[in-house]
Amino acid sequence: MTEIPKSHPRYASLKIRERITEGVNAGITSIQGLIAQGRGEAFDYLIGERTTSSAFMATKLAAAMLLLAKKPALSVNGNVAALVPEEMVTLSNELKAPLEINLFHRTEERVAKISELLTNLGAERILGEKPDTVLPGLDHARSKATRGGIIDADVVLIPLEDGDRCETLIKMGKNVIAVDLNPLSRTARTAKLAIVDNIVRAMPNLIILIRELSGESTKDLQDILQGHDNNELLRQALFEIQKNLDRQIEIEIPNLARIR
Ligand code: ATP
Ligand code: MG
Repeated sequence: MTEIPKSHPRYASLKIRERITEGVNAGITSIQGLIAQGRGEAFDYLIGERTTSSAFMATKLAAAMLLLAKKPALSVNGNVAALVPEEMVTLSNELKAPLEINLFHRTEERVAKISELLTNLGAERILGEKPDTVLPGLDHARSKATRGGIIDADVVLIPLEDGDRCETLIKMGKNVIAVDLNPLSRTARTAKLAIVDNIVRAMPNLIILIRELSGESTKDLQDILQGHDNNELLRQALFEIQKNLDRQIEIEIPNLARIR
């Protein structure tokens, strides 16, 4: 592993890259996962590599939705397993929600390795090694599902998911919460709620907010959700990118020009 000095201006981003690369080397993350990470990084750069206020609001709404769920379920893929495995296990155990391993480029070996990783971190309920049913309308490899998991859930958290699967879950009537750095992606636009943030920031925030809200009544949680919709949150996410870019044009670029 390359040693990255803490003083490096892109330290946090490079550390995440290291974790994804380690995931590939450990047989947990697919090669395609590296490209997905690259697309995410590009959007994170535009966002300013921080949790924006609309992302924080979306995370709070997600916390309320998960606490109101009768049967929540959490989806884990190779990127999620490389970047936030501890957080996924914590969330699963605290919400009593199963973790379902759900791979776009499925191999039994990768599923087994992710399952072992989650087990070692203390996960109480892991599904996906023995799929026994299918999600309707998807091709065979991607449709695999396990009874008692996502297919039977009312609220599903899909940190990083492709647009098709997200759409299928929405068509099945589920409340789908996505985490996706690209506010223009089909996943973000199709989901009931999209958290436009890096999963490495969104997941710890989600855990904190769930703990904070866990004492609230059903009525109070429902009130939190009132009056919010995903389209408005995505508009705000795009506006925040625009503001960040405006700031860069006004401050950063003139400074660079002066140096020259
Ligand atoms: P669409 O949703 O439009 O169908 P896609 O799902 O095919 O697009 P991919 O590149 O396959 O697009 O999916 C990767 C998605 O995951 C991208 O939208 C990217 O922004 C997002 N992503 C990647 N890494 C992270 C991360 N660390 N945190 C949050 N989102 C991420
Ligand atoms: Mg997507």
